[in-house]
Amino acid sequence: MQQTLSILKPDTVKKNAIGKVISYLEKGGLTVVAAKMLHLSKEKAEQFYDIHQGKPFFNDLVEFMTSGPVVVMVLEGEDAIMKNREIMGATNPKEAKPGTIRADFAESIDANAVHGSDAEETAKREIAFFFKPDEICSTAAK
Ligand code: ATP
Ligand code: MG
Repeated sequence: MQQTLSILKPDTVKKNAIGKVISYLEKGGLTVVAAKMLHLSKEKAEQFYDIHQGKPFFNDLVEFMTSGPVVVMVLEGEDAIMKNREIMGATNPKEAKPGTIRADFAESIDANAVHGSDAEETAKREIAFFFKPDEICSTAAK
C-alpha cells in the first residue's frame, strides 16, 4: 500500500468537475483517504513548488495555483504514486494519452487540472505539507 498527494487545481474546481475527476482516480483503483478544500496563499504555493523556484514558468505556476480554491487529497492504493501519474497523463495536455484526466480536462500546461506527487520522498513531504497524521483515514490496517 502506498499513499500519494493529489491536488485538484483551480481550473478543475472552477469547472465544477471535482466529482468527475475524482471518479477517474477511483475507477483507476485509488481511494481517497483524506481531503480538504482551501485557497492557497502566495507564500504557501511558493513553498509547495519550491523545487521549481527560478524556473521560467515559476511565477505563472504560483499565480495559477492561487487563482482560486483547490482540493488537496491523500490517495491510497497499490503503487499509488505511479498509478496516479498514469491516470493524470502527461504534464502538457497535448501530450497526454486519451482517457487520462489531463487529456479530458486540462486546457494548457498551466491549467492542467491536477497535481500528483512524483516519487516516494516527494509524496511524504507533500502529504505532511497539507495533512496531520490524524487527518488521514488510511484503509490499511495499523
Ligand atoms: P505537477 O507537479 O503539477 O503534478 P508535473 O509533475 O506533471 O505537474 P512538474 O514538472 O512538476 O510537472 O511542473 C509543475 C507544474 O509546473 C506543471 O503542472 C505545469 O503546470 C507547470 N510547468 C511545468 N513545466 C512547464 C513548462 N515547461 N512550461 C510551463 N509550465 C510548466
Ligand atoms: Mg511535479
